[in-house]
Amino acid sequence: MSKQKKIIVAIDGFSSCGKSTIAKALAKEVGYTYIDTGAMYRAVALYCMQEGLMDEQWQINQDELSKRIDKIAVVFKTNSQGVSETYLNGVNVEQQIRSLHAATGASKVSQLRMVRQAMVKQQHLMGKDKGIVMDGRDIGTVVFPQAELKIFLTALPEIRAKRRFDELQAKGETISFDEVLKNTIERDKNDMSRTESPLLKADDALLLDNSYLLPEQQTKWIRDAFNKVLESV
Ligand code: C5P
Repeated sequence: MSKQKKIIVAIDGFSSCGKSTIAKALAKEVGYTYIDTGAMYRAVALYCMQEGLMDEQWQINQDELSKRIDKIAVVFKTNSQGVSETYLNGVNVEQQIRSLHAATGASKVSQLRMVRQAMVKQQHLMGKDKGIVMDGRDIGTVVFPQAELKIFLTALPEIRAKRRFDELQAKGETISFDEVLKNTIERDKNDMSRTESPLLKADDALLLDNSYLLPEQQTKWIRDAFNKVLESV
């Protein structure tokens, strides 16, 4: 066992479970790089919207997208406050990709095999030296099935929708709670029922339901899980 040995931490789960909060906190604590794969699918959706490749009914011009998919580069850069931000082909899109509209777009583009293949290729490169905490839907099952620590997060839909609603309100989005709940349930359904890399718990992932956990209880749970794995590698 070596304390220096780096591992891959895969955190998967439903929308608005607080995956990114947990993943960011763990990455910061252990000095790993945090990678938000949801942001990558959101950025692809934004690209499609900006380029006229996705219409109001979420129909995607797949022929055109297939010609351009390898030219869509999503990278993360840390800003002066130490916060990771998403760049789409060199442009900071961190604010734009956080809307509910971009989230719905992401759940549409992420159903396409060509999009998943292109993003997974970029994710493999980001994790080649290990030392990453990556969150998403398919990290423990498809992207890094060999990840040393896999966590599957869940929480009740109403609780997740309330968290998301509060976040969106704080950002000034005018939206009702019912709309957010509907969007949450809809996205869960899309994520679980799609043919390409559906959202599912890897057999060897640890399950964490944080519906009623306090942030500090959750942090302790994750830190203990991380230390236990690190001691065994
Ligand atoms: O995690 P986040 O809500 O930002 O993800 C946005 C959407 O991107 C999800 O609803 C899901 O459809 C898709 N996604 C995915 N695979 C991932 C991460 C996100 O399909 N690894």
